[in-house]
Amino acid sequence: MARLGNWIEPFPEGIYVKPADAWVDPSQPKDRALVTHGHADHARGGHKAVWATPETLAIMDVRYGQQCANPVAYGETVRLGEVEVGFVPAGHVLGSAQIILDYRGERVVVSGDYKRRPDPTCAPFVVVPCDIFITEATFGLPVFRHPDTGAEIDRLLHRLHHEEGRCVLVGAYALGKAQRVIAELRARGHHDPIFYHGAMERLCRLYEELGVPLGELRPVAGATKEELVGKIILCPPSALNDRWSRRLPDPVTAMASGWMRVRQRARQRNVELPLVISDHGDWDELTQTIREVAPKEVWITHGREDALMHWCMLNQVKARELNLVGYDEDEEEE
Ligand SMILES: [Zn+2]
Ligand SMILES: [Zn+2]
Repeated sequence: MARLGNWIEPFPEGIYVKPADAWVDPSQPKDRALVTHGHADHARGGHKAVWATPETLAIMDVRYGQQCANPVAYGETVRLGEVEVGFVPAGHVLGSAQIILDYRGERVVVSGDYKRRPDPTCAPFVVVPCDIFITEATFGLPVFRHPDTGAEIDRLLHRLHHEEGRCVLVGAYALGKAQRVIAELRARGHHDPIFYHGAMERLCRLYEELGVPLGELRPVAGATKEELVGKIILCPPSALNDRWSRRLPDPVTAMASGWMRVRQRARQRNVELPLVISDHGDWDELTQTIREVAPKEVWITHGREDALMHWCMLNQVKARELNLVGYDEDEEEE
């Protein structure tokens, strides 16, 4: 019998689906690309044709300009060559999808990036039983156990309310994390205007257009120092320590990232208030997901794969490392 999944070929620049003549999340321009979500390490510009969810395509439009786009909504399928291709929610950011590939009785699911915790800005991860589950492992070490998101948001609000004459500046990736932090703050009853760095404006507006309410948002540009006292301000992580932040009233520097679990990373960025809020599954979410999906084989695309490989072995799941490059785990994304 042929080897399971022999129609799927991993290359350093992405996963090639032979009978569809298409690539999943290729890091180089290709004729046909199936894109899991809008983060820059998965969605690149320059493909001849792209299949993705309408939300992901809208995000790619904002970042790269108009694509030759084929929208596939959650739950719909398209046929490419001999392959049936479907998209289901991955719970990572707005529009993020796992891609289901069905070919001659075999089912392969490419997870893209995913998490299992509730996120008010996107549809929750759907468990799809399959033969081969191709997973990420960004936080694939048992030391990574993300705390409760609501508790992290409460720490942020507590700090805001106990610092007289200051503001709290939160570094957050512009796609997904920023909007999630805003929506979580709203869910915790914080209805004050939230200020943003100009780099966040287009994606925040797009989220609202796509039906994710974010409450009252204002640009920092144009606000006086007095207006910013006692307020939360969001910026890309790269702006946390640059000249831009000097105009703010004595900011408490915070950052929302799964990497804030690592003290050294927080120190590197001079982060006073590290918030462990991640859009990737932690160790328990990764292993729980593999248990629930119950595939015959697990293929691991990128991240810390050794511990997860070992866990699969102990749990009698055949596992394989793909060593894809270009999913550079840019910490600003997580
Ligand atoms: Zn991502
Ligand atoms: Zn990624």
